[in-house]
Amino acid sequence: MALSDDVVTLSEEDLLAVEAASYDRRFGRRGAKEILRIAIRDLFEGEIALVSSFGADSSVLLHLVSQIDRNTPVVFVDTGKLFGETKRYRDDLSDRLGLTDVRSVSPAAEDLAVHDPKGHLWVSDNDQCCHIRKVLPLQRALGVFSAWISGRKRHQSATRASLPFFEVDEGRIKVNPLADWRASDILQYARDHDLPPHPLVAEGYPSIGCMPCTDKVAPGEDPRAGRWRGMGKVECGIHLPNHGKQIDGSGI
Ligand code: SF4
Repeated sequence: MALSDDVVTLSEEDLLAVEAASYDRRFGRRGAKEILRIAIRDLFEGEIALVSSFGADSSVLLHLVSQIDRNTPVVFVDTGKLFGETKRYRDDLSDRLGLTDVRSVSPAAEDLAVHDPKGHLWVSDNDQCCHIRKVLPLQRALGVFSAWISGRKRHQSATRASLPFFEVDEGRIKVNPLADWRASDILQYARDHDLPPHPLVAEGYPSIGCMPCTDKVAPGEDPRAGRWRGMGKVECGIHLPNHGKQIDGSGI
């Protein structure tokens, strides 16, 4: 925000922040389905996508969106390091919910050739690996949208404890309709609507990402404890300010 005499000039990002705060105030208490209906039908019609990992909790948000408009674009980032079960679950669940526009996006071949030619980057630099395999493909996929929907929830981690329903993310509005849902709410909704679980949940994976960076979780452990276990990392970068670091300062 720049101050000049008595005139306040708002940047694009400032304006978006005001817009997001206004939506959050006006619509944040209306419940997940109504927030989604307002976002998909009214605020961002034709300009909004759901981003889904088709992970352990994903069926609930996918089902809610399918109830409003099954033609809503769904962006799925296929990092090239996922469990086969996740991709089969993506296909099965999309069919079952009647989703017509699931877009699987991949890392750029040139990024892999330059930065991860042997596929071992996750061992030496997991931030850079997430950047080329998750963050950049998602940024490219979201280029045509002015808003996106995320399934994050406040209970998932300390960094998400004050998550708003509407926020700004890299020049777009990000909608978090499940922000105030507890783990038990997700389970109950999935039961009530007979939604199939990700097959790896029954094998001890309550939170599922890439195969090399996802471990089983013991009973009583934090559900996300298996993500990057012992690797000094808790987020992939998609939800961090500036979407994590830039590689080699090159800005790609
Ligand atoms: Fe790479 Fe692991 Fe990130 Fe997947 S989760 S992109 S394998 S560092």
